[in-house]
This record gives sequence, structure tokens and C-alpha cells, in this order.
Amino acid sequence: MTSCMDDDERARLGVQASITRRDFVNGALAGAGTSAPGGAVGRPVHADTDTFTGYGGVGDYASANGNTWPVIQAAHRLRDGRYNEAAFQAARPGGEFDLVVVGGGIAGLSAAYYFARATGQAKRTLLLENHSIPGGEARQNEFIVDGERLLGPQGSNDFGVPAVGSGTEADAFFTRFDIPREYRWQPWDEGLRHLRFAPDNYSNMDGFQESQIDVGYHFARATDASPRWYRNIWREGLRDAPFSERARGDLLRWRADHAPLDEAQARYLDTLTYKDYLERVRGYDPEVTRFVEPVVGLLSGVSADAASARLGRQLVEPPDRPLAVSFPGGNSTFARALLRGLLPAALPGADFASLMYGALDFAALDRDSEPIRIRLNATALRAQHHGRDPGNARLRVIYEKGGALFAAEARAVVMASGGWVNRRILTDMPEDLRAAYAQFAYAPALIVNVALKQWRFLYDLGVTACRWFDDGEGFGWCCNIRQTMLCEGHAPPLRPDRPAVLSFYMGLPVPGLAAATQGVVSRTRLLATSYEELELRVRKQMVRLFAAHGFDPVRDIAGIILNRWGHARLIEPPGFHYGREGQPSPLERVREGYGRIAIGHSELNGAQHWTSALEYGKKAGERAARWV
Ligand SMILES: Cc1cc2nc3c(=O)[nH]c(=O)nc-3n(C[C@H](O)[C@H](O)[C@H](O)COP(=O)(O)OP(=O)(O)OC[C@H]3O[C@@H](n4cnc5c(N)ncnc54)[C@H](O)[C@@H]3O)c2cc1C
Repeated sequence: MTSCMDDDERARLGVQASITRRDFVNGALAGAGTSAPGGAVGRPVHADTDTFTGYGGVGDYASANGNTWPVIQAAHRLRDGRYNEAAFQAARPGGEFDLVVVGGGIAGLSAAYYFARATGQAKRTLLLENHSIPGGEARQNEFIVDGERLLGPQGSNDFGVPAVGSGTEADAFFTRFDIPREYRWQPWDEGLRHLRFAPDNYSNMDGFQESQIDVGYHFARATDASPRWYRNIWREGLRDAPFSERARGDLLRWRADHAPLDEAQARYLDTLTYKDYLERVRGYDPEVTRFVEPVVGLLSGVSADAASARLGRQLVEPPDRPLAVSFPGGNSTFARALLRGLLPAALPGADFASLMYGALDFAALDRDSEPIRIRLNATALRAQHHGRDPGNARLRVIYEKGGALFAAEARAVVMASGGWVNRRILTDMPEDLRAAYAQFAYAPALIVNVALKQWRFLYDLGVTACRWFDDGEGFGWCCNIRQTMLCEGHAPPLRPDRPAVLSFYMGLPVPGLAAATQGVVSRTRLLATSYEELELRVRKQMVRLFAAHGFDPVRDIAGIILNRWGHARLIEPPGFHYGREGQPSPLERVREGYGRIAIGHSELNGAQHWTSALEYGKKAGERAARWV
């Protein structure tokens, strides 16, 4: 998709002025040698920065923003049947291992970590990850603006702090990796206007937590008299918000319907769509569906007329619940903790600050002398038992790296990748597993981090988070600035005249289409749109919202990173979670794996979560340990 925008408009929107183009486009930071603005050192963007992936920020994650073009191309070569049997047979020797793990997200790192623990670190493990850094959906973006190093999550973002002694996996994880449970946050100057921030990028979305966050709502629909901002609309029971009397009453009723579901209720709700539940069962005005649509679209991947009511209903939470929190780089900190646990030399240091901010030693990831090796930029193409016989205790994993194919021998395999990958790679899987996977469908998400040089326009509006309602070609639906967690040596100030990251989280639902079709259509659109087009849309949206309040895209935007997730969510339409017509859920079959292949990815929970990645990765790693 190309833009028909003329040069004047591009200049007005700041496209030429931004570091996204001027300073980084060829991989070198013009006029600053190899150091970043403000003197701090960051690894420059790779020269292969392309029209799809765009600007990736600085530091270790600069060439791994979301699903990058090279990774997508490697995966699509397999999908499109570009490798034949002869090529696989001719693969070069890729080493002998006890365990091969496919996928270096939290689940894959967890599988490798718990496998190592269960086997006394005496066994050889190879972890294959197709991106240039581990972490999967739990990776981070980094910017340096006016001397401040700013982090933002690429996807996986927030967490609830586990109570000490609660006995959960998360509790054990925090203890084992010495992760603090109390935090310091950026202080807010008492001399400034009182403003409340979310410590993550979710708590502000539905406005349930307005008692703790200042949220602005911009109404610019055809039915609204004129575009206008409203602040904290729920605080006064929607009194001033431009909803009809009926919609206002129904929205308040909808919001009050948050009691935890019991098993019978959850099973009933899993038989209908969320839209059906809202409009037919509860009799709410369609405005309620419209209000909740973007939240459902982000968290379930599809619109309310396709998502299960079980999932939609669970999104309504009590107002005033304790806010979830987020590390500066989101849940990348959990992935980094596992990485340090596996290969301490790969993430030098032992403290919290280096856990979040330290540079990786990439050379330490894949050393022949180590029992655990993490191989990056390596795409697994096939994993199967010798002779395609799941009873055989030997397996062969073929992967591509640097344009060549390699074959690794293994005694066990953990697939810590999602079903869209596994169903192509596991060529000897039994028919019932294939049938279960055939029911899995995925939807994309797009996370945009905009580095701002200043954000006085939000300050003047009296808000730190925004949501907008429009009928046109608007981009996204919400954004916010977090109050960042502080640690030793990293304390960027929280001031309206200083840099900050504004994050946009969005799903791409297509109401009216069947669930799986929505995923395909929206993914195709997302992948067919250039970085430049999306960048222009972000800028236009910000102008639309904030220009009247002093925002200037040329002056205020320092950089824009897009994180595209083609398969962000496993879609759960009605009947998926508990199974249809007395049949078990396809999730149950996939959890079993087959032969010497254990499957352990966060999606085995249905709705993905960092704890489900940890849990299913651990189960798979410990299972594999029993086979070697
Ligand atoms: C936009 C977004 C927001 C989210 N927000 C939150 C949140 O706030 N809190 C929360 O708890 N969870 C959140 N999640 C859920 C998130 O999925 C989990 O937290 C967790 O990060 C998933 O880890 P995983 O290891 O199971 O999967 P992934 O992170 O998907 O890891 C799989 C890895 O396998 C790699 N891979 C795939 N195919 C191959 C191949 N053929 N060869 C080699 N490697 C391969 C992938 O590149 C990836 O690195 C969010 C997810 C998304 C997409």
C-alpha cells in the first residue's frame, strides 16, 4: 500500500524531520557516529532495515521489533512449499542434542530452564529462535531521546505481583530469580498539576480504573455535535458523556456486571458470542457492544460478534482493582530472567537494573563448550521422529540459518512455538492432533511506541491516557504514557517537557466476518501495509487528536517503532474453550503432544499470558527430561 500524500503534507506531519527517516534510515545515525543522541551508546539499526519493518530503535532489540520482514520471509518459504525433500535430506549436520527446543519466547526459555534443572544441567540442549534476540512476544523497544534512555514493551506488557507464599508458579519464579515485588516509580513534581498515570499500558483502556488514572475521551463521531475531549467520564456516571440515556444506563449496568464466573456460567457463556450475550441475553443498547469492541478486539483478536461471551465477560473487572504493573520493557524482564538463569554469561550481572537494562553478550548464547546453546536467526522447518515413527526415540530437527539448512539430532523435542508454526513443522503428527490443530485460528495485533520529546499537549489536557471514538479512517483507539518503574541508574524524569514513550495497543478485528476469517483478513491487511503508510497514519491520528492542544509532529516526535504480531492471539470463538457437542476442547489434545515431542506454548491456556508461557514451557521441559 502506498501513500498518495504530497510532500508538503509529509513535511507538515514531520516524516522527513523524524529520526525514523533522517537519522536512521540507512542504519547509521547521521552526524553522531555510532553513539546515540545524548551520548549514550546504542547499537544502530541494521542496514537491512526495510520498508516493512521500519525503524527499530536502538540497543539489542533494534532489529527485532515484532515480526520482522526477514523472519516472515523465512517462515513463508516453508508455508509456500519452497523446500523439497531433497533439500531436507541434504541438510548439513547441525549437532547432537538431548533436547531441541523450538522457540525462544518465555515458554521456550522456561522449557529449557526446567529441563536443565530436572536433568542436573548434564544434558545438551539446543534452543532455536528465529528472531535476532530471545523473548518472543515479550521483547522491548528502546529509544534514546535527548539523552534519556526510554524503554517500551513490544507486546507482552503487564503482570500482577504474586503474593509471597501464594504457591503459584509466578510466586516461585519471583523467588527463584530474585525479582523484587515492591517498586519505585517515577516521582511526579508536586508543583505541577496533579496527574495520575497507569503503571502499564492496559489499565487505562476501558476506563475501569479512572479512580487511579486520568483518562481523556475524544468523541468525533457523526452523531457528536463537534469533536471534543471529555475527562474521566465514568467518575460522574457518564453524566456528561455524549451517549443516549439508554446507552448510558446500559453501559453502567454492563460495567457493574463483573462478579467472578463459576464453572457452569463460564460453560454457558462459551456457547454464545459476546455480542449475543450483550444485546440478546442482557438486552443492552448496541452502543455497549461498540464501546467494548476495541478491548475485545485487542484481547480476543476478533470482534464481539465472533468472540466467545466467556472471554468477553471476563474482561469486565471491578473498578478500583489494584493496578497491574509493568517493567520498563514489559514482560521482556521475565524472558531475560530465564535467559540469565540458563546462561548467566549471556546477561552479565546479578542485579535488577542489569536484568532490565543490561546489554546481552550475544557471543555467550551459542558456545560449543556449554551444555545449553541458544541459536538465533534460526528457523525450524521440520521436527520428526526417525522413520516418521512416533515410537522411535530419535528425532531430527531441520532448521534454516543464514540461507543454509542444518539437521540436528535429538532425543526429545519441545515445541514452544504456536500452532500456526507447529502444524507445518510436525510432519509426523497423528491425525487426531492434526484435527485438533485445524481448529486453531489466530488474529494479529499492532503495538506502536512513539518516542516523544515532550508531551505538554497531554498535560494541558489533564490526562495521561486517551481513548477516541470516531466513525472515519481513524487509527487505533487508545494510547497512554506509563509511569515508569525505576531502578538503580535508570530514572528518566516524568515531566511534560521531557521525553516519554506514548504507546498504542490495538487489535484489528473485522466485525461481520467469521472468527477465523477475521484473523486471515486482518493479518493480510497488516502485512500488506508499509511502515511508511502506518507511520503516516499514526502521525495523522495524533494531529487529529492533539494539534489543537499544542502538539506539533515535527517538533514533538523523536521516533516511531511498529511491532506487528501476525498471530498475536489464539482466537476463541464459542465452543472452542470447552469443546463443541460433547467433544473435548482441541486444547486438551494439543497439550498431550505425541511420541517424544512435548508441546509447551502459552496458547495451551487459550488466552495467552506470561504465566501460561512459564507453566506450559515448564511442563514440557520436565516431560522431556523424563525421555532422556
Ligand atoms: C500484543 C500482545 C500483548 C500481550 N500482552 C500481555 C500482557 O500484558 N501480559 C501477559 O501476561 N501476556 C501478554 N501477552 C501474551 C504473551 O503471548 C505471553 O505473555 C508470552 O510472552 C508468550 O510467550 P510464548 O513463549 O508462549 O510465545 P511467543 O512469545 O510467541 O514465543 C514463541 C517464539 O517462537 C519463535 N518461533 C516461532 N516459529 C519459530 C520457528 N519455526 N523456528 C524458531 N523459532 C520460532 C517466535 O519468534 C517466538 O520468539 C501479550 C501478547 C501480545 C501478542
